[in-house]
Amino acid sequence: MTLTDPTAPDAPAATAPLVPSALARGLTVPKGFGDQSLLSPRPDAIRLLGGIPDPSALPLAELRESLGEVWDAGGAAAALQYSGSHGFEGLRGWIAEREGVNPRRILITNGGMHGLSLTVQALVERGGRVAVDNPAYPLFLRTLELVGAETLPVPVEADGLDVEHLARRLAEGERIAAVYTVPDFHNPSQGTLSAAKRAALVELAERYGFVVIADDPYRELRFAGTDQGRRVFFDSDHVVHVNTFTKTLGPGLRLGWLVLPDHLVDPFLRLRNRQDSHSSTFVQTLVEHLLVSRPGWFDTTLAAARELYRHRAELLVAELEAQLPGQLEATVPEGGFFLWPCLADDAVDAAALHARASAEGIDYQQGEFFVTGPGTDSARRLRLAYGDRTDDELRTAVERLARAFG
Ligand code: PMP
Repeated sequence: MTLTDPTAPDAPAATAPLVPSALARGLTVPKGFGDQSLLSPRPDAIRLLGGIPDPSALPLAELRESLGEVWDAGGAAAALQYSGSHGFEGLRGWIAEREGVNPRRILITNGGMHGLSLTVQALVERGGRVAVDNPAYPLFLRTLELVGAETLPVPVEADGLDVEHLARRLAEGERIAAVYTVPDFHNPSQGTLSAAKRAALVELAERYGFVVIADDPYRELRFAGTDQGRRVFFDSDHVVHVNTFTKTLGPGLRLGWLVLPDHLVDPFLRLRNRQDSHSSTFVQTLVEHLLVSRPGWFDTTLAAARELYRHRAELLVAELEAQLPGQLEATVPEGGFFLWPCLADDAVDAAALHARASAEGIDYQQGEFFVTGPGTDSARRLRLAYGDRTDDELRTAVERLARAFG
């Protein structure tokens, strides 16, 4: 197992008869993305692979202190007991205040992926149709496999999902249960859904009766540009907003939340109750204490994290411009962890470049692995993730990439 590759499948694509469920037997490992055989064999390989926060931006010392404080205050026994499906009241209250919604609408989850799978199980019938970003975060497509859903790819532009394209398809008679999109600092394509498109998307959802699944793990990591707003999502009965502490407090906590429209709270609670019952009482105890007992701490920490990620994004783009002038068209994103540069020269074979880069000791994700349908230039792109790479690593990575270009 590698700690730096969250995309690695936990298990091989087993067809072994020991797997009792026909569904589990049929689940395949998608081509390429998360495929260990595509990783560089070099022990000193530099991986620009996943949306991983830098350890220095995570609350290592504060969580240790929190544990001591909770234990000293006599909270240990309760932290090891069962708790409710909805999640801790204090934690929901803290999140609700930040989001500006009623705490009842917050459902604590085991992170973003869990929030997505819960939402899909709740809202998508077996074999249902879901419109998805093109290119898309591939792990969401795996979640859709759980209900055998079909996908309708919708192109993603520099300012997010092409909502007009979706509107045309709906006007032509296409019917969907949901739309999946990453509104802020898109994974993989780095852009942000504009305020106008947010409003138009919600309007379509209300008109045609589908749900918008807004997957927003990067939204706290804005380091440039203007926030395009979430109110429009929270004010609609047709949006499930999926969030996580993964990028801000650490993926290992497995802690996130949904902001649900009021009418979906009870059905989601009934479903949750039949799954794992609730998120870890222990983790919720620690994180609730950390956030509630240190007013202002989260924002101060985020401010430092944003500066770190801004610096890395700018450095990576500057290195690409200096070492690969005219070969990779890269722009500094406004936040998040990803660059999505495009190969300038059509004669460059993206797969061959990836193989040479791997031999040189740099790993990145090929754009083609995010493609969900025709009509984009994604296969000519590279996803470069810089969140957990140092300045030296980024410089060396680009040197290696430049060698791969030859
Ligand atoms: N959605 C997107 C777009 C992501 O990039 C990620 C993390 N890579 C997730 C969801 C999953 O978040 P979590 O680790 O909290 O499950």
